Amino acid sequence: MIKNYFGDNSHPWATLKTSYLPGEYSFFAQQVHGSNLKVVEKDDLIAKKVVVPEVDALVTKLKNVNLVLKTADCIPILFADSKQGLIAAAHAGRQGVQANICQVVVRKMLELSAQLENIIVEMGPAICDMHYQVSEDIQTEFEEATAVQQLPGFIQLKKTIRIQLNTLGITNKNILNNNICTFENPNYFSYRFNRTKQRQFSYIVRI
Ligand SMILES: [Zn+2]
Repeated sequence: MIKNYFGDNSHPWATLKTSYLPGEYSFFAQQVHGSNLKVVEKDDLIAKKVVVPEVDALVTKLKNVNLVLKTADCIPILFADSKQGLIAAAHAGRQGVQANICQVVVRKMLELSAQLENIIVEMGPAICDMHYQVSEDIQTEFEEATAVQQLPGFIQLKKTIRIQLNTLGITNKNILNNNICTFENPNYFSYRFNRTKQRQFSYIVRI
């Protein structure tokens, strides 16, 4: 069985205990706004809690391994092919989307025997497409990198991710989006709202 979870500000990342998580092992992406990925394999199960440096995405076939993310506006993205028992988690902000981190994750999942039509992707609470205002320079850079047109003055992360996933062959029926905006909803940490250092956490696990 695959279990996934998107948290809110009632359980801040800073107070997260691994005992709250369902799996025996917990792997945390360090999250450096890149697109590097780590496949968690049997040999990696040495410590119960591991922070994987320099990665923004984690993939595994193993059971009992929590793949954990922390966010406050960036998008926590969880992936699963329940038939093949493959799961993944990716942290995607502006730079991660520019680097097409979803492509990196989906290609790795396919390499590990996932079937495209069985991959379900869920985007969690994050800043919505109407609240991420940026300068013209940043927007131009984003548009050039992604080749996805943005509303003037804004970056539309979720729209862009959806198009990137569609381009990979993942159809909208397999793309879930809970539509919670961290900026406008007081139950979520939002870096852009008040420059908070707090984060909510999300995870996916096979149990
Ligand atoms: Zn919003």
